[in-house]
Amino acid sequence: MKGESFNRITVDAAALAANYYALTERAGDIPLMAMVKGDGYGHGMVYAARAFAGAGCHRFGVAELCEGVELRRAGIEGMILITTCFGNEDASFFYDFDLTPVISTSAQAALLEAEGAARKDELEVHLKVNTGMGRLGLWPEEVESFAAGLAEFPHLKIAGVMSHFPEADIPGSPSTAEALMKFKKVAAGLKERYGVIRHIANSGALFNHPEAYCDMIRVGIALYGCHPAGLAHDGLVPAMRFSSRIIQVKDFPAGSAISYGRTFITEKPTRIAVIPVGYEDGLNRHLSNGGEVLTGGRRVQICGRICMNISMLDVSDMEVKVGDEVVLLGRQGEECISADEVAKVLDTISYEVLCIYGHANKHFSSAE
Ligand SMILES: *Cc1c(COP(=O)(O)O)cnc(C)c1O
Repeated sequence: MKGESFNRITVDAAALAANYYALTERAGDIPLMAMVKGDGYGHGMVYAARAFAGAGCHRFGVAELCEGVELRRAGIEGMILITTCFGNEDASFFYDFDLTPVISTSAQAALLEAEGAARKDELEVHLKVNTGMGRLGLWPEEVESFAAGLAEFPHLKIAGVMSHFPEADIPGSPSTAEALMKFKKVAAGLKERYGVIRHIANSGALFNHPEAYCDMIRVGIALYGCHPAGLAHDGLVPAMRFSSRIIQVKDFPAGSAISYGRTFITEKPTRIAVIPVGYEDGLNRHLSNGGEVLTGGRRVQICGRICMNISMLDVSDMEVKVGDEVVLLGRQGEECISADEVAKVLDTISYEVLCIYGHANKHFSSAE
């Protein structure tokens, strides 16, 4: 162990690459942009980007400017799209690091133009249209005039137009058809006039809406091995594994209270294993009394309240010992705890489980 944490996130670069290959095949001729925001959905942004780059990816998407800068500094090449925001003093970073902003206000355009004019350099920008997500973007009716207005900004080149679906993970959802119709209408004009690339599809659309592929697919969750709607899927390989070790095994008599609040009272003699994992490590307190983990290749239940750094497992009838591995996410033997399974208990989605486990555990190792 050499002084390291007992808790470990292992990320399998080969699984990330395999997902990239599988999804590329599904997409046919349409290139994929790997979304690596949220620290690569918890898998480590640079680590994940390198795995996808190694598999042939040369388009990456992040939320904030600082993430794009970090990718470039780590040597990631190709297009890096900044989808969310940048600060008033940050325009120079786009030029210095060859990053591509997504814009939807003239204030953003003016900041980027001023920098381009000062350094006599050009910058490619993508426009964002709100087609029903109700988040960022121009109204569809505004796009034409906004684009025409950019003629005042000779250092900016319109290279892309994008939008985002609110429910592409639901097959046949009317909102997706409606958003796509709005998007295709405004995007067609821009494509004709400026030769832009059009992109609106995410993982959900990659699975459910081939008619929405356009010129590029921005794929996130599926690259990390989860289906966007939480369905089982043979072609995707989960890449993240979260493991710990047993630090104590004790036999409690019937009638013993376990952990804070005495919410679990043993009904019979019960063998309890303790693991050094708690909500600090991303193990949500709502998994107390019922959440499952793996040890000895079997599913066991978390009993009593999850503490900050400690949780208890019911290992009655099992021959487990101190030092045995416990798996909180991923495979052990024939059994597997999926991010979707954890998400279901917590009434959330795999995306959040992966982000939180990844963020909470700084002790990464790669699976090669
Ligand atoms: C995160 C994100 C995606 C990818 O979504 P998934 O459902 O993970 O495939 C695509 N586009 C934008 C703008 C995003 O923020």
